[in-house]
Amino acid sequence: MEHLIELDKKHFLHPSTSIQQQQEQGSKLLVESGEGIYLKDNQGKSYIDAMSSLWNVHIGHGRTELAEAAAEQMKKLAFSSAFSTFTHEPGIRLAEKIAKLSPGNLNTVFFTSGGSESNDTAIKLIRHYWKIQGQPERRKIVALKRGYHGVAAASTSATGIPEFWEMAGHMMTDFIHANTSYQSTTEAAIQSLREKFEAEGPETIAAFMAEPIQGAGGVLIPPKDYFQEVRKLCDEYGIPFIADEVITGFGRTGTMFGLENWGVVPDMMTFAKGVTSGYMPLGGVVISEPIHEVLKQKSEGTLFHGFTYSGHPTATAVGLKNIELIEKEGLVENAKKIGAKMLEGFNRIKEKLEIVGEVRAMGLLGAIELVKDPAANENFSKELNAGPKVIEELHKRGVICRGVTYENSNIICFAPPLIMTEAQLDDVLEKVYESILSVQ
Ligand code: PLP
Repeated sequence: MEHLIELDKKHFLHPSTSIQQQQEQGSKLLVESGEGIYLKDNQGKSYIDAMSSLWNVHIGHGRTELAEAAAEQMKKLAFSSAFSTFTHEPGIRLAEKIAKLSPGNLNTVFFTSGGSESNDTAIKLIRHYWKIQGQPERRKIVALKRGYHGVAAASTSATGIPEFWEMAGHMMTDFIHANTSYQSTTEAAIQSLREKFEAEGPETIAAFMAEPIQGAGGVLIPPKDYFQEVRKLCDEYGIPFIADEVITGFGRTGTMFGLENWGVVPDMMTFAKGVTSGYMPLGGVVISEPIHEVLKQKSEGTLFHGFTYSGHPTATAVGLKNIELIEKEGLVENAKKIGAKMLEGFNRIKEKLEIVGEVRAMGLLGAIELVKDPAANENFSKELNAGPKVIEELHKRGVICRGVTYENSNIICFAPPLIMTEAQLDDVLEKVYESILSVQ
């Protein structure tokens, strides 16, 4: 163990990690195996993976069906290009499956290796869409504060959490951020968006981009009419709406895609994570028929955009098997059912503990917000560090959650695997209660 952690410090630069902390303290958890909702470290200690790792292991760990699907495909054809006129069956079948599952007229899929590439692709495609229609000045992307869209060039700039652009300066220009509906009303958030559209000039805006529920921003669930109003506003101004369903896709919120909770259909939808439950890196963009029609008619020559692994045969074969299991095991319905119980449990904890403020969940995506003054719903300051302390206490009790401390909020996020049972949920809730009690 010691030796591995020393090698880790020397050779492995970790993503989204404090470099100094890793050097001083070493990595905290050396994960060796996973089974269902549990992860096991190299000392044999079990942890409940209440975050599905990075919001992505929908069907749980250790599923041999996916290992077998990967092995079978690898033995037959591990990799082949999807560039130019080459194609292959798993890519075609998964594109067809996703088109069938997607709402409205979202019918054609461009594959990538993950969420960031998907959002960069969506942004390039929509700029291209306007350019080939003689409107190259429509380049601006309006997104939301506290939104997270990834770390590639365009997705970094679309992200509404400033730390991500400050690290290396802005990666791209023409990105604007409107207020979210967090701690606000639909009316105020829509007004902020309208003001941005008006101030920038709708004739210069390529698209509006948002997550149905802002995940990394702190599981911020919008009021139920927010996206219906967003849809109306985008239609009023003729601005396409790109939904980032990277976290909310494939059953996480109790519907196949997040926006279905409010009956809203976007013009483009990006996905990743749950499409393979993290067993293979895969993502993509689903585009609407009218957008596809314009691309077919007006895009001349080669589409100069494509990743080596766009439509990777093994990744798409694993995606197909994963979706088959999600459907066969009724995991979307389970997310809805257990998610409702999770919210009831959060509410019981809120009744008992003074420092719990707002609690929220939609399906198996939820959060508990810690506050200093419950009456005023006033946040703890970062200095008080209540959120990170609760995360630490949960870790000691064998539960992995994620804390969000942007803008002084102390939020504990939950996104357990969609296979979670009621008994497992009760176990988590008890440990959450004990952990918050211990720092109160
Ligand atoms: N979009 C959202 C909503 C995400 O939560 C994430 C990752 O957490 C991404 C995009 C980026 O995806 P990836 O890390 O696969 O590039």
